[in-house]
Amino acid sequence: MKFKSIKGTKDILPGEAEVWQRVEESIRHVMSLFNYREIRTPVFEQTSLFSRSIGELTDIVSKEMYTFTDRSEESITLRPEGTASALRAYIQHNVGEQSALTKLYYIGPMFRQERPQAGRLRQFHQFGAEALGSSSPQLDAEMMLVALAVYRDLGIEEFALNVNSVGCRTCRPPYKELLVNALNNVRDKLSPESQARIGQNPLRVLDSKDDHDRELTRNVPLMKDHLCPECADHFKEVQALLQSSGTPFHIDGRLVRGLDYYTKTAFEITSTALGSQDALAGGGRYDILVEELGGKPTPGVGFAAGMERLMMVLSKAGKAGMPDVRPVLFIATNGAAAQQWAFTTANALRSKGFRVEIDYLQRSLKAQMREANRMEARYALVIGETELQARSAKLKNMQTGDEEGVALDQIDRALTTL
Ligand code: AMP
Repeated sequence: MKFKSIKGTKDILPGEAEVWQRVEESIRHVMSLFNYREIRTPVFEQTSLFSRSIGELTDIVSKEMYTFTDRSEESITLRPEGTASALRAYIQHNVGEQSALTKLYYIGPMFRQERPQAGRLRQFHQFGAEALGSSSPQLDAEMMLVALAVYRDLGIEEFALNVNSVGCRTCRPPYKELLVNALNNVRDKLSPESQARIGQNPLRVLDSKDDHDRELTRNVPLMKDHLCPECADHFKEVQALLQSSGTPFHIDGRLVRGLDYYTKTAFEITSTALGSQDALAGGGRYDILVEELGGKPTPGVGFAAGMERLMMVLSKAGKAGMPDVRPVLFIATNGAAAQQWAFTTANALRSKGFRVEIDYLQRSLKAQMREANRMEARYALVIGETELQARSAKLKNMQTGDEEGVALDQIDRALTTL
């Protein structure tokens, strides 16, 4: 029987993995510039953590979570996103008591049982950040700037930033009523999915992908036009900050996002290089979530960004190049003594920081040189009895074919000066 990876999951093979490493380095670099500290949480949690935070009626909780009962009859869920776990850890370890403002970031796999397609997987990866303890609109703007800084650091320029405000506990309920009234006027003509949403999550009707739904709801009231004074000021301030930092953005009054916990700011970054799944990142403010999860009332804001989609954008832009992982030296050997010598010497050179490879398959010299070529080693050294006795050998430049004699105890020096 041949095993295969599970539908919607992907192996990241050598060649690709190095690109992931480079992306992760960029993320870590940018996060450290903005003073975010890494948090690593378990990939599974109590199911109720997610239903509580993301919302029972959201697509994620109602149909996409990998939930199972473990052997102790506890309901466990593979995390579908990173915020709930980060906040659970923040509350559990009283992190808020150590400093008034906490800035966290994470990188890791998330799990959702969605219909797999290009840019939509069942195990995918996100990087994200959370800032807890401040309601300053500066942090809302900072979240967008952090995500964009990662993209810029990787050389991606083509993206759009869409921003909205989804209000708060004061202004959203009366707005929802207005919206439901307006939606009820066209109810029968809406798609069955949108009809179902009117009762459960009416704001989600606004971001229906169905063209007909969009046309029918063209003139319904939008949250951004019905914000309470506090939310309206906050939204204005976020826009002013983006403007003053020279960040182009669009206001999208239909942007609501699929998670229930957002208050005030919601944003999404899309890329034209992606197909129908064009969202690269999304986030927003969640001022009631920490309290909702049993912590002290603590304002927060964050974002999460898909890494597979980022890889797709990078490769489209021809920027998914691999860092140089080629060996600088391949030691080809002939005979047991030479093989022994190569093993010891390679390790000594590695401890001095040189990338060195040897032959482990007792191949012919010719096959070994072919292998050195295949892995694009910069130099090859051929060692047999004669070379061992003479304590010197030929160092071959694999690109030019030039050869140069080196003393066997001077290889490191030769590799440095060549
Ligand atoms: P969300 O947590 O749903 O706000 O998603 C944030 C970002 O994660 C999206 O903009 C996507 O880039 C990415 N993402 C979400 N779901 C998936 C998925 N099933 N497969 C790949 N990427 C995803």
